[in-house]
Amino acid sequence: MSQSFAVVTFGCRVNQADSLVIENELTSRGARLVPAEQADLVVVNTCSVTASADQGARQTIRRLVRLNPDVRVVVTGCYSTRRPEEVAALPNVIGVVSNTDKEKLTPLIGANGWLTTAQRFGDGDEACGATTVPGAGGRTSLTLRVQTGCEERCSYCIIPQTRGRGRSRPLKDVLARVEAAIAAGYKEIVLTGVHLGSYGRDLADGTCLAGLIAALARRSEDVLFRISSLEPMDCTEEIVDLVMQSPRLAPHFHLPLQHAANRMLAAMRRPYLYEDYHALVSRIRSAMPHASIGSDVIVGFPGECDEDFAIMERRLRELPLTHLHVFPYSDREGTEASALSNKVEGVAIRARGRAVRDIGAEMARRFRQSQAGTTTRALTLDEGWSAVTPNYLKVRLDRQIARNEWIDVKLSEDALSGVVMS
Ligand code: SF4
Repeated sequence: MSQSFAVVTFGCRVNQADSLVIENELTSRGARLVPAEQADLVVVNTCSVTASADQGARQTIRRLVRLNPDVRVVVTGCYSTRRPEEVAALPNVIGVVSNTDKEKLTPLIGANGWLTTAQRFGDGDEACGATTVPGAGGRTSLTLRVQTGCEERCSYCIIPQTRGRGRSRPLKDVLARVEAAIAAGYKEIVLTGVHLGSYGRDLADGTCLAGLIAALARRSEDVLFRISSLEPMDCTEEIVDLVMQSPRLAPHFHLPLQHAANRMLAAMRRPYLYEDYHALVSRIRSAMPHASIGSDVIVGFPGECDEDFAIMERRLRELPLTHLHVFPYSDREGTEASALSNKVEGVAIRARGRAVRDIGAEMARRFRQSQAGTTTRALTLDEGWSAVTPNYLKVRLDRQIARNEWIDVKLSEDALSGVVMS
């Protein structure tokens, strides 16, 4: 009888996309997907972007073993890539698979007998990967990883060390997976990567992100393509124009700024100035007044003085953004920044984090206000009592509609809920 398994995922959209592929490859061989506490085998797909991410993985593995002493654990992802010995020493860990070998994880599970399944590993493995269906992993949209690895050297970031050099899926393979996903019923597909903007550069055959997006914009099916996080230096005028002109592309950008003081951007080794960033988001805002434009910022980077932070606050208030993700600086051993002096006190980091989150909350409130009373399309989610709009507003519905349906919804005064019009 086929054994049971679970996949526990930490971290970014790239990890979520990888986990969905692992889930799908194991279920397509007859293995049973069950809650982690009941599984024979648990694959833990780790993150290592902060120290607490590592700790979270350790705590989860120990908890699973307490609840299910016979569980077998295979660990993959950035933490297992950065600290394989440390991970291998955790209880019940029978396999440690680095990011570089992650695409071989399922055959590895078969080859090592870590899981017995109805269909033997290797029998009829689809080159293109069978696809899941809307709702798999609790998600209505499909997150499709088209690239991994990164060639940049942001001084605070451990990811180039854990994900390696930039590697892109060939365009033909990406389009085949899009075809399979649409055939499986997906109506929203999110493009993701570790450094998505560098898509195709390693292929040296002219493939690039704008080319991929243009190909998707030409599709006739009623499917929405969403670009996940895009480094500002990669968000070209061509990409902005494609999004502006095509109903297939979500008017939604996530452009990590990280800091608004040029002195800090230089210390972070971010390859742009604040003025470049301001020009980019201002152009998007004037081209698409209803677009969602989110960003990431780090507070408490080593050497960040009161004046740097005051510049950040003042400039964030002038940027036409719609929401912020705020990250307290976290020392990552092995990064250039971790060797810097002038570390900022924890109490100051927390206070600055609160201040910037308040600015982010005001941005989100102002954006919802600007959408109040408008009628827009939306894709129904979960149990059908909520939906997400192309410009990334999640709204409660006044009546239940089946998951994964396009509807027209009239947004309320605070744009937190809506009346189903169709
Ligand atoms: S672009 Fe910078 S922050 Fe992003 S993964 Fe690469 S090194 Fe890290």
